[in-house]
Amino acid sequence: MPNRKFADGEVVMGRWPGSVLYYEVQVTSYDDVAHLYTVKYKDGTELALKESDIRSQSSFKHRKSQSSSSSPSRRSSSRSRSRSRSPGPPAKGRRRSASQSREHKDDKKKTVQETSLALPVLVLFKPSENNTKRYNGEPESTEKNATSCIILEQNLKPDLEVKRVLEQYSLRSRKDDKKEEIYSEKKTFVAVKPIEKVSTKTKELEFGGRIGTFMMILLLPATVFYLLLMCKQDDPSLLNFPPLPALESLWDGRVFGVFLLWFFLQAVFYLLPIGKVVEGLPLSSGRKLQYRINGFYAFILSAAAIGVLLYFQFELHYLYDHFMQFAVSAAAFSLALSIYLYVRSLKAPEEELAPGGNSGYFIYDFFTGHELNPRIGSFDLKYFCELRPGLIGWVVINLAMLLAEMKIHNLSVPSLSMILVNSFQLLYVVDALWNEEAVLTTMDITHDGFGFMLAFGDLVWVPFVYSLQAFYLVGHPTTITWPVAAAITVLNCIGYYIFRSANSQKNNFRRNPADPKLANLKFIPTATGKGLLVTGWWGFVRHPNYLGDIIMALAWSLPCGFNHILPYFYVIYFICLLVHREARDEHHCKQKYGLAWERYCQRVPYRIFPYIY
Ligand code: NDP
Repeated sequence: MPNRKFADGEVVMGRWPGSVLYYEVQVTSYDDVAHLYTVKYKDGTELALKESDIRSQSSFKHRKSQSSSSSPSRRSSSRSRSRSRSPGPPAKGRRRSASQSREHKDDKKKTVQETSLALPVLVLFKPSENNTKRYNGEPESTEKNATSCIILEQNLKPDLEVKRVLEQYSLRSRKDDKKEEIYSEKKTFVAVKPIEKVSTKTKELEFGGRIGTFMMILLLPATVFYLLLMCKQDDPSLLNFPPLPALESLWDGRVFGVFLLWFFLQAVFYLLPIGKVVEGLPLSSGRKLQYRINGFYAFILSAAAIGVLLYFQFELHYLYDHFMQFAVSAAAFSLALSIYLYVRSLKAPEEELAPGGNSGYFIYDFFTGHELNPRIGSFDLKYFCELRPGLIGWVVINLAMLLAEMKIHNLSVPSLSMILVNSFQLLYVVDALWNEEAVLTTMDITHDGFGFMLAFGDLVWVPFVYSLQAFYLVGHPTTITWPVAAAITVLNCIGYYIFRSANSQKNNFRRNPADPKLANLKFIPTATGKGLLVTGWWGFVRHPNYLGDIIMALAWSLPCGFNHILPYFYVIYFICLLVHREARDEHHCKQKYGLAWERYCQRVPYRIFPYIY
């Protein structure tokens, strides 16, 4: 029988993580293993809390009545309003009499109680005009979510916010006076302890759970090899299954050496002290990691290195000739990397584990990634792999295919189809590297751990599957007319425009919601403090960036003509990937934002494709 203090369904007061503020919550379940209560806030947000972060409602009510009876007049909102607008300490030269000071102290004590008891009232007059002013047109949401402003600060800078709350109400931290409670046992309910972490245990398994992830570990590499073998065939029809190559032909030590050289060259570029250093989004502990933004420089340096190789007559189509062996080398390396990542994650502290990859099941955590941000010193393995060896490698592979096409078909210039595929994908990669900072707010960085899924995805899937169109065109020349090329280019530009402006709009909003450039956008405030845009691209569909990405994916396949479905693999797979990713994201957002997310969904009913899905 678990030893628990609060029962399911009980209404209690739950501390908001990273703060000293308590909200009314309902206990929905209890995890006997992790000793955590799942509680539901009034706005629908669900969190797992430790017992020490939960108080019974009766103690709050009791104290509230004490407070009000002692000095009801001091509880007027105008007093609180002015205090919360000027939280700073009194000016140096100003002195108070002892009685004044005592009175002031009492006043502060009461205010703290009021803060916790009547938080929604306090937060209404936090200096957040920006929030409410800009949220014109959604008064009901503004009212219901008025708590957002104070929580926003807690979310972005929890340490600072707790410090600010402590200073504002003359609370001293435990470190200062070694006391766990600020007031006497009878009066207080505000315990000031070091911030306790919310457990990151993964309860809901994605990707089909253990069986699904096990299958994916087998199927993903098999799919890559199937696609590459198909592409080599004269007739790459779906039913024309390719003959399996001899095992020994798949491995070449020299090819593996070239792969390693490429990987470590990119690592050297990453370590160069060029480019700015920025902070990522706050982790669950409130800490922010630093990231060097020099992916674009790495691209330029890589281009220079390839230029030098070409100048010295290095035959880049070596890549084409040994393409399968390169894919095998990359797969072997990503598997070894995943094993290393999993082993090291076993020693990682609980708060450094990924919210999505900490199930306790080996195969699941190995696939999804157990540790959120594995680092060797300041070298961030996930962030490095996300945009460099694979993504820049993809451009190099495309270039190799272009040169191979010219050589094999004896062309003085590449085909129009090959030029389009190369240019469109080059634009995509350059854009990703130019906007490298944006990757810090993506699910891959903030939610998913670094395991087989991302290691294989970044190092094998992206360079070897995304270059399928160029690979296909080498063996299956396709002629397109200039008007068709122009139409496809327009399609790619439309996709790119949607993709880029949607991503920029959200990233800028997340980085600085008060940015004057976003002043015309409306948003729904949420209990976590982050807003949800409801106009602009994010008011058009719920994932406009996916829409743009899918349009571009189609434009990359169209230059390959309609003889075979193989070059359309990318767009078909990509739609499936993004539909699944969108569902995952919806699920996370529903958990994070509760009612506010539902309201957003009502306001913006279509997920990716307007009027379709
Ligand atoms: P998104 O960039 O779409 O981010 C989703 C997050 O945005 C949500 O979790 C939420 O996070 C926030 N958000 C959702 N709705 C709103 C709103 N209305 N207002 C403000 N914020 C909102 O996620 P991804 O990481 O999946 O994608 C990033 C880019 O990468 C996309 O362009 C995608 O197309 C591309 N991509 C490309 C892939 C490829 O292989 N080529 C693979 C996967 C993605 P929060 O509220 O916590 O900020």
